[in-house]
Amino acid sequence: MTIPRLVDSFGRQHEYLRISVTDRCNLRCVYCMPEEGMEFEPTDKVLTYEEIADVVRVAAGMGISKIRLTGGEPLVRKELEKLVGMISSIPGIEDISLTTNGVFLASRAARLKEAGLTRVNISLDSLRPDRFKMITRGGNVKKVLDSIDACVKAGLTPIKLNVVLMKGINDDEIIDFITMTQDNDINVRFIEYMPIGHSDSRWKNLYLPLTEVKEICERQNWDYEPSSNVKGSGPSENYRLKGAIGSFGLIHPVSEHFCKSCNRLRLTADGFIKPCLAWTEQFQVRDVLGDDDALRQMFLDALGTKPENHEMSKFLLAGSKTTYTPTNRRMSQIGG
Ligand code: SAM
Ligand code: SF4
Repeated sequence: MTIPRLVDSFGRQHEYLRISVTDRCNLRCVYCMPEEGMEFEPTDKVLTYEEIADVVRVAAGMGISKIRLTGGEPLVRKELEKLVGMISSIPGIEDISLTTNGVFLASRAARLKEAGLTRVNISLDSLRPDRFKMITRGGNVKKVLDSIDACVKAGLTPIKLNVVLMKGINDDEIIDFITMTQDNDINVRFIEYMPIGHSDSRWKNLYLPLTEVKEICERQNWDYEPSSNVKGSGPSENYRLKGAIGSFGLIHPVSEHFCKSCNRLRLTADGFIKPCLAWTEQFQVRDVLGDDDALRQMFLDALGTKPENHEMSKFLLAGSKTTYTPTNRRMSQIGG
């Protein structure tokens, strides 16, 4: 029997599955979760590691080779190393990365690497302790910086730092972050703030298009050039200051979407396949787990609903209607 590949109706081949292992988190970043009142999935609604590995096995047979573990905060889930080990032994899986806020990473980097983790993306929206604490509502930036050192020691490289830019909040640190790449082998990725799950006026006030980063580079008179050799950079448009060890990247899903080359699917902690981050469509794998043919068909059905473009930019235009229903899940409930 020929096993179908994950190609959608626009001809996009899907090789990348982002898996949210939990919707819970030890932080409450201002752009991601409210300070209070978050309701989390009961534990029995969350996929077990065995169930996740089963989905990955079937997806790998259809062409998925890259996995990212995310959340919520993936490191609040017990023994994540065990899941990493289970996934790394699945034939066809070539790359397993982790997106984390880094708070619990320092003491676990080496064990995660041993279990088969290839790389990490660490969220770090400010280098200033007070501001970091304000953005994350309580986080300690020192723990994140220690984790970066631990990842270097463990060989979890190249390390990517995710910086969500917010107008008037952290845009005055663009220069500091880019300067950091001069002597450190890191890839700092500036990310546009997306209107996921809470497209209110607060988002519009804080949203900043990433053209701002290039304008700052010009004003600084920096000599920088495109950099194409950053491993696993996905939609990031990468640059390097002349002579720098590290690089910086721009991820601009709102101002300039990269849907044409989208190769990713998502699996939420409560078991839904989501073909697009922004839309409401979702498919519950628990309905078919144990029946590989039915799960494969579910993947194909999910791809069948995948839009050509997420249309997030329409949120910026007054009165402009999207052709789809935006998801009401938050980023932490989907797996950013
Ligand atoms: N807790 C982990 C972390 O913070 O890295 C993983 C989950 S978090 C939802 C994944 C990524 O999504 C983080 O880099 C975070 O900064 C980003 N993110 C969350 N909400 C966002 C939003 N509204 N717009 C852009 N990025 C967002
Ligand atoms: Fe938690 Fe990550 Fe969301 Fe921050 S961005 S609240 S660390 S899930």
